[in-house]
Amino acid sequence: MPPTPAPRRPLPRIDPARCTGCGWCVAVCPPHVLSLQVVAWRKRSVLEDEAGCTGCSKCEPRCPFGAIQMERPQRPDSGSGEGSGSSSSIS
Ligand code: SF4
Ligand code: SF4
Repeated sequence: MPPTPAPRRPLPRIDPARCTGCGWCVAVCPPHVLSLQVVAWRKRSVLEDEAGCTGCSKCEPRCPFGAIQMERPQRPDSGSGEGSGSSSSIS
C-alpha cells in the first residue's frame, strides 16, 4: 500500500522584515509551535515545529504588523498546471 501523502495544511510564513518580535503570535498559538528566537541580532518569531502546526491560522490575524501569511506548502511533484487561463475581461 503506498504511503498516504501528508495533508497539505496551510503553514504560517513569517516575514522577517516585518516581524518585530512582539510575541503576540507565540502567545495565541494553541500547540505552542511558534517561538521567539534571535536571528541576526534581531528577535523574531519562528515556526519551530512545522509538523506540530495544525494550520489553524490563529496566528495570522493576531500579528499587528502583517508579518504572517498562511500558505499551503507545495508538493515537489505537484505539476498540476491548470491552464484555465481565465482572463476576466468583461467587455
Ligand atoms: S505577532 Fe507578528 S510581529 Fe509579533 S512576533 Fe509574531 S510575527 Fe512577529
Ligand atoms: S497556524 Fe495555528 S498551530 Fe500553526 S503556528 Fe499558527 S497558531 Fe500555531
